[in-house]
Amino acid sequence: MSLLEVSNLRVNFKTFGGTVKAVRGVSFNVDNGETVAIVGESGSGKSVTVQSIMGLIPSSAGNIEGGSIKFKGKELTQLTKKQMREIKGKQISMIFQDSMNSLNPTMQIGKQISEGIMYHQNVSKREAKAKAIKMIREVGISNVEKRYEQYPHEFSGGMRQRVMIAIALACNPDLLIADEPTTALDVTIQAQVLALLKEIKEKKDTSIILITHDLGVVAESAEQVIVMYGGMMVEKCSVQELFSNPNHPYTWGLLESIPNVYSNQKERLKPIEGSPPDLFSPPKGCPFAPRCKYAMNICMEEVPELYNVNDDHSSRCFLNDEMAPRIEEFSDTEELV
Ligand code: SF4
Repeated sequence: MSLLEVSNLRVNFKTFGGTVKAVRGVSFNVDNGETVAIVGESGSGKSVTVQSIMGLIPSSAGNIEGGSIKFKGKELTQLTKKQMREIKGKQISMIFQDSMNSLNPTMQIGKQISEGIMYHQNVSKREAKAKAIKMIREVGISNVEKRYEQYPHEFSGGMRQRVMIAIALACNPDLLIADEPTTALDVTIQAQVLALLKEIKEKKDTSIILITHDLGVVAESAEQVIVMYGGMMVEKCSVQELFSNPNHPYTWGLLESIPNVYSNQKERLKPIEGSPPDLFSPPKGCPFAPRCKYAMNICMEEVPELYNVNDDHSSRCFLNDEMAPRIEEFSDTEELV
């Protein structure tokens, strides 16, 4: 049994404009000590997927239409708010992109960490403070006693993100969900925060779901990758497979749009032309069809199933069908073969 098992998750939002099908049949597992990255453009459904795991979809706006989310064998979609609060912060924690808005600006950093510890663990104020100080030290913040009493605005962006990690890890959760944790940071600080997450994961055997749009971050941090597009999972494989044997045309587009630091040649980066699908009325067939240069007639009519590329690699693309033309038969695409 995996730590987390998500099967055929479907999430809709009701708006004045109609129903948004934000997540359409997503399935994946996270094992103990494993990092799974979910990548995709904004609107691909990656954040909604993890918000569903955390029970953060407000019932007034959206609902889980179907599917299952099992954590340690327990079905999370059936839990009451109170039962979910017991799990959140203690067994599953989340860190967000925007640390300034996630922290309470009027409360000392140390208190924000120790409050979570007191909520979930049966400890005195003094013990909670000692644990909070230990956490602040563990995430690499020096001058701990002074820092404990400071407020969020007295910390830099990178330091605030370290505080967020301290809060998330204070109760030693089994699963940490990091939603674009480094997007707002400059490259050097980004590398430091990623290294910290990696170090903590190795030390504590924490499983991580990492949401990102940055394939460089995926290469550095994850073992498994899920590529999402238009609310669907379009490719799922190991990190090595993603970079050595990518299968889905959308993944090819993502890979072509990042700089190749190992290449001597001055290559032009190729953005993926077109826009993500309108989730009010997604395309009838493959969600990527309007932007895909390999699209065939069937792609406009039917949603492709997930084809097995090999034992540990699947891709939602008709090009994997044995009846599909080989990629060489498309003009102007030889470089992708
Ligand atoms: Fe392109 Fe068709 Fe594959 Fe979709 S199914 S990615 S449109 S070739």
